[in-house]
Amino acid sequence: MSQGTDAVHAGYRPSGDFRPMLPPLHNSAAYQFQSHAEAIEKFALRQAGFTYSRTGNPTVSILEQRVAALEGGAQAVATATGQSAVALSLLALTQGPKHIVASSSLYGGTVDLLTDTFADFGIRISFVDQADPAAWSGAIEEDTRAFFLESVSNPLCTVADLPAIAAIAHEHNIPVVVDNTLATPLNVRPLDFGADIVVHSATKGLAGHGSVLGGIVVDSGKFDFSDAARWPQIAAPRVRLNNTSLLERHGSAAYAMLVRSKFLHDLGPTLAPASAQGILAGIETLPVRAAHVQRSVTTLIGELLAHPGIVAIHHPSLSTHPSHELAKKITPKGTGCVLAIELAHPTLVSPLIDRLKLISLAANVGDTRTMISHPATMTHCRLSEQQLAAAGLNTATLRLSIGLEDPADLLADLTQALDHALEKALAPQTQGAS
Ligand SMILES: *Cc1c(COP(=O)(O)O)cnc(C)c1O
Repeated sequence: MSQGTDAVHAGYRPSGDFRPMLPPLHNSAAYQFQSHAEAIEKFALRQAGFTYSRTGNPTVSILEQRVAALEGGAQAVATATGQSAVALSLLALTQGPKHIVASSSLYGGTVDLLTDTFADFGIRISFVDQADPAAWSGAIEEDTRAFFLESVSNPLCTVADLPAIAAIAHEHNIPVVVDNTLATPLNVRPLDFGADIVVHSATKGLAGHGSVLGGIVVDSGKFDFSDAARWPQIAAPRVRLNNTSLLERHGSAAYAMLVRSKFLHDLGPTLAPASAQGILAGIETLPVRAAHVQRSVTTLIGELLAHPGIVAIHHPSLSTHPSHELAKKITPKGTGCVLAIELAHPTLVSPLIDRLKLISLAANVGDTRTMISHPATMTHCRLSEQQLAAAGLNTATLRLSIGLEDPADLLADLTQALDHALEKALAPQTQGAS
């Protein structure tokens, strides 16, 4: 099926006595077994099914199947947040104090996870310039167990050369994990370009209405984990599995089973069924929302470029953007809702933000409502000046997440606020002027 159809139908067909059209909310912690034999088989993971909702729930399962379909993946495991999806996807690959090569332009929460919490676990990270293939191959070490990057980075919308990066990784039997939150599968399916695992903050574009948090890990099922010396957590016998391996038992679903039956089970960041239902409802309108947002982004760029308060707009649709050519190949439909604008001077930032009437100052993306944020003092405030510069940001950069309002109203709001900020910057510093 096409993505538009999958967004509405994948993973669910009405059934049972009542045939509800909406994927039903199964609010239950546990599931009854019809015999002891059935319980034994399900707890031992020899038979598929639900035992306890920490590791699986029928409503959550519909979401997992739907996102797997949209991403072209074989398996998916939903999690409580995007943050836990990133953490679990990588913990399952590192399994101990190993090494990860990661792009230097990542979501702030991911940077915290990698540089602080993972560092405490003994997991080492090398950050590289995403756009430089030589940097990726140069950073590989004997114990590198993952490449991690975002398909479209935030807020500068740098597009990753997924085929080139995947080719380097696969030469060294390293899986590529891609955070596809910003782009959404409507704009790019990283698995089609050679990535092995996709993660999402479903809180953003997938849920789409800023109402729930959620995350998901999607596996292509194609990466070769058969080297038991390199991937003991998947290919070697485990005591916990009666001295069999996940690979023997689950074949191409072994990695997803590791995420679910070990990390989701043991650490417990489980998605609530009600949240899964909310994200499913959001996904139904994702194709329509993505198309509307794309048109609005294009309109706003065209109109805002000429404003004297703006010195640059960072967006791949512009020939000045470093990803302009690559985006034609990887993200031909667009890169999603984010747009970074650089003001003529950092002193314009506060007056502009405080003058906006329709656009809200809030640190979210992919909502129906348009939001603005100042990365240097908000989402990226823990980054050092060096890290900020490495991510291509400065103190005059603002991030917009375009929502579903009429773009003419957004433009009017931005224009009046920009005009006001410029006036204020040029006015003599007198008290009481309005
Ligand atoms: C928000 C976000 C996350 C973290 O997701 P939460 O749902 O907030 O935990 C991870 N990656 C990206 C790109 C994000 O935008």
